[in-house]
Amino acid sequence: MSLLGKTVILSKWLFTQRPTSLAIDITHRCNLKCLHCYFWREEHPGELPDSEMIALMKTFRKRGLRAAILYGGEPTLRPEICRAAGEIFDACLIFTNGTNGFAEIRGAKWIVSLDGPERVNDEIRGIGVYRRAVLEIRRAKSPPLIHMTISRLNMGCVEDFVGCMAELPIEGIGFSFFTPAVGGADSGYALTLMERDRILTQLLSIRKKFGPIVGITPAMVRQLRSDGAFFSWNRKELCPVSTRVRCFNPAGEAKFCTYGDSADCSRCGCAAVAAYRGALCPIDFRTMLVILALMGMPGRRLITPFLVR
Ligand code: SF4
Ligand code: SF4
Repeated sequence: MSLLGKTVILSKWLFTQRPTSLAIDITHRCNLKCLHCYFWREEHPGELPDSEMIALMKTFRKRGLRAAILYGGEPTLRPEICRAAGEIFDACLIFTNGTNGFAEIRGAKWIVSLDGPERVNDEIRGIGVYRRAVLEIRRAKSPPLIHMTISRLNMGCVEDFVGCMAELPIEGIGFSFFTPAVGGADSGYALTLMERDRILTQLLSIRKKFGPIVGITPAMVRQLRSDGAFFSWNRKELCPVSTRVRCFNPAGEAKFCTYGDSADCSRCGCAAVAAYRGALCPIDFRTMLVILALMGMPGRRLITPFLVR
């Protein structure tokens, strides 16, 4: 992606109310059955065939959305759609479980979802998944990002996990907190706000220890803390991300949020909201660097070591 393209996306994202990005579950199929995942347990309408999904992406690119985020299911099960998204959009983030490798796709950055060190990850994601994903990370031509969703299943192993990831060729690690559905059976996986506050404090000390590969800043932490800014945005009508990201399911139907229409905003743990508000409310350059890392902007590696605290 050109530097100009990245700058336009970033400026629109940060400084206008207009949508910048398309987030699309390109398939409801997955080769795993993770414990905490609602996707494989639900009935889904069919998927748009390749030609219609590519047409949908082109339509939104023409309407001014310059970035795409691909989710699933497991997006690598639809390689043609991944490739097409890389061609259509100026920037593309693809969330994957990492077990199918990382094809080179123009303008795309891979984000690997892992949930802990080998034992904990495999209790959640299935036996052998950690080793397979690590093998693929070592083989990847460009270092991927890692994403950990913190839940009651893995809250005790965050530092160990960062230690394991720090030894791999990765770009960085991001963190979300498990966001349940309103009244959903998955509610028990979500941390209480008090537990979450404790983990957030721990994440800042982990960042001090491991440096800027740990993609959470004090400003982001403030957005998620119950004694910080959390209650000033944790409603649908106040969520800055839902106004900037247009979300769709595999059938091409609109969703309010990437977590689904019944996501419990009052317990939202979305890293994108924390990064957006952390960067701007008030302006915080460390958090902007985290966003730049996601977009692969040049020069970031030179300055981030000086900005850790
Ligand atoms: S890899 Fe992702 S989509 Fe597949 S079961 Fe796990 S959480 Fe769900
Ligand atoms: S659950 Fe979704 S819509 Fe609600 S606050 Fe979080 S990101 Fe926004």
